[in-house]
Amino acid sequence: MSVKSQTPAKHAVATRLAHLGRGEAGSPFVNPPVIHASTVLFDSVAQIEGRAAKPAKWTYGRRGTPTSQALESAIAELEGAEGTVITPSGASACALALMAVLAAGDHLLMIDTVYGPTRNFCNGVLARFGVETTFFDPLIGAGIAALIRPNTRAIFLESPGSLTFEMPDVPAITAVARAHDILTLIDNTWATPLFFRPLDHGVDVSILAATKYVVGHSDAMVGTISAGPRAWTRVKSTHGDFGQFTGPDDMYLALRGLRTMAVRLAHHQASTLRIAEWLAGRPEVERVLYPALPSDPGHAVWKRDFKGASGLFGFILRPAPARATEVFLDDLELFGLGFSWGGFESLATAPNPRKVRTAVPWTEPGQLIRLQIGLEDPDDLIADLAAGLDRFTAAS
Ligand SMILES: *Cc1c(COP(=O)(O)O)cnc(C)c1O
Repeated sequence: MSVKSQTPAKHAVATRLAHLGRGEAGSPFVNPPVIHASTVLFDSVAQIEGRAAKPAKWTYGRRGTPTSQALESAIAELEGAEGTVITPSGASACALALMAVLAAGDHLLMIDTVYGPTRNFCNGVLARFGVETTFFDPLIGAGIAALIRPNTRAIFLESPGSLTFEMPDVPAITAVARAHDILTLIDNTWATPLFFRPLDHGVDVSILAATKYVVGHSDAMVGTISAGPRAWTRVKSTHGDFGQFTGPDDMYLALRGLRTMAVRLAHHQASTLRIAEWLAGRPEVERVLYPALPSDPGHAVWKRDFKGASGLFGFILRPAPARATEVFLDDLELFGLGFSWGGFESLATAPNPRKVRTAVPWTEPGQLIRLQIGLEDPDDLIADLAAGLDRFTAAS
């Protein structure tokens, strides 16, 4: 749906999170009702045909319900967007947004650090439908101008990259894109609109895997696509053409997660900074990848454009046999081994960017570890990691 701000922008975001997306005006309920619907009944044939004095507000479940509208309006307001559509996962949001702005014969510029399934979508579906993708160095900045062809229609960003945390210069890239009448899209899952508002920096489409920080409890999958005026009608119509609709209970969980998102993100950020700083001082650790650290190469860009840092970051271990990484991770007490992030629980994975990067090869000899810092006490998490690093050293 298309919305104008429901709560005055003078209020801080934590205040607005308590009030936005509350459902239809005048409703006495604090939370909007969860509507399970396909069929919607009309008053008359004239109303179905759009001739009635009182037009139908709702027409069919897939076309929108009070539940989807509440979540759409909340996200659109946070992103400062013309409108937002909801999809059944973050991956489907990335795919749909690309379909909305591209056609056969077009060329797409894609950041090399993009989320794996989005990369696969470009190399698979988009290639089959005649769209060519060029992957580019995340630190290219204004140099992206050299990659633009007459048929380049879109540039897709992710900031920071969710495995290796490079910070692209978003305003430098969107300035070039606008000069060439090219649309820009960004996967904004890491920062969320609380820490970075892409549309304020010239981006046309901002995508969230709401599965992560919006839902916040690892119990539902939801995606959102928010668009500014240059892309909104295409995003809205493509979402309708694909017949996308998301389960009302999952949309409700996303709306419910939003209420506590500012508080959770503040805790994720404080704990993550402490743990990242602690790791940076450990002899087993080669380098910590977290733009909020002053030592990080992306720190200046992060500080200029972002209002905060979330709870996902990486570090590189000193080179050691694979077995040393396994004993470190396998016996962690509090960190679960699993995909996804943004929930209340801490997680660890050992990704290998070497296998996927094409524009800039990943050459670090040590193993990359990615941590999601949850809402546990950070001292307990540090003790768990310290014991793990001792196991790592013993096995090295
Ligand atoms: C998890 C993730 C997605 C996909 O979200 P799903 O809801 O799991 O489909 C997209 N982008 C990023 C950066 C992610 O981390």
